[in-house]
Amino acid sequence: MTSTKIASVRYQPLNLPLIEPFAIATGTQYQVENVVVQITLEDGTIGLGEAAPFPAVSGETQQSTLAVLGELEKHLLQKDVKSWRTLAQELKQLAPQAPSARCGLEMAILDALCKHYQMPLYVFFGGVQTQLKTDLTITAGDEAHAAASARSIVERGFSIIKVKTEGVDVDYDLRRLQAIHNAAPGAKLIVDGNCGYDLVRAQDFVNRAAEAGIPVILLEQPLPRESWEDLAVLATTCPFPIAADESARSAADVARLAQNQSASVVNIKLMKCGVLEALQMTALAQVYGLGLMIGGMVESILAMTFSAHFAAGIGGFDFIDLDTPLFIAEHPFTGGFRQQGENLSLDPETAGHSVTLASLLS
Ligand SMILES: [Mg+2]
Repeated sequence: MTSTKIASVRYQPLNLPLIEPFAIATGTQYQVENVVVQITLEDGTIGLGEAAPFPAVSGETQQSTLAVLGELEKHLLQKDVKSWRTLAQELKQLAPQAPSARCGLEMAILDALCKHYQMPLYVFFGGVQTQLKTDLTITAGDEAHAAASARSIVERGFSIIKVKTEGVDVDYDLRRLQAIHNAAPGAKLIVDGNCGYDLVRAQDFVNRAAEAGIPVILLEQPLPRESWEDLAVLATTCPFPIAADESARSAADVARLAQNQSASVVNIKLMKCGVLEALQMTALAQVYGLGLMIGGMVESILAMTFSAHFAAGIGGFDFIDLDTPLFIAEHPFTGGFRQQGENLSLDPETAGHSVTLASLLS
């Protein structure tokens, strides 16, 4: 049988242990509580996806994601994955508030579609490249932890370190940033505020970091999501390029950020909006001349490999933040991107995203 209609949708919790807690300004995650999604076509082709709900960003939880998948499953049965764009559009209408659940389904649909046609996923997205260089993150923690982490990251072959600030005490955040710079003087730094500052503290932070000569190549989301006007004010004097993350959850957000000239880079994360909307955000950012970053929630090799295909296939992503598989102690998958130090390589020939599950969901 060669039918590409969806015969079954399966999903189950994907609970994975972390090597160390993943702490950011808005909360700390102690283990991964994601959902793995498996779609089987009538011809037997299997596609896999992952939903990574992050309560602090979208309000979604593992439980709410499982409940939404139960609803969306009924809609997808017997639908043809060849019309994936129609399906993605319908999922958005049915579950606008559940982007990571939709994203897990879109990933599985596109994996199955590409496997049916024997096409690697990066080729589906444009085939521009198969290699990316990722940063590695130092999560929130004290100066000694930060300095030790910075040294170990450089020893592991990374040239870009992403630093999470706590956003409460500017002096503390600067001391920590300085400690990281001292420990890894050759590394370039991406600072992620995760909405922690207000305008006054953000201005103080960037001015003093610039005076100290700390090589910040990007300042991600210093202010809360809805601080649109303050972000535009900060952008007029900020010595570093600003990336919007929490403020960029849709194509409409990208248009607003571009028109306000409040960010020069957009952090695309598939879990914030689903694959189709992420394509629209990417296209819009390119039209407006904004730079592109690819990131994710705390995701396993499955979702991060999908995002690597997305960014490598489209090309032109200047900032790559696909490091969370390195924080996960063990997982049930094989395949996915290969990583040596900061270098990620996609398998140029394997169809789909190349990640498979040790035992299928039943
Ligand atoms: Mg971020």
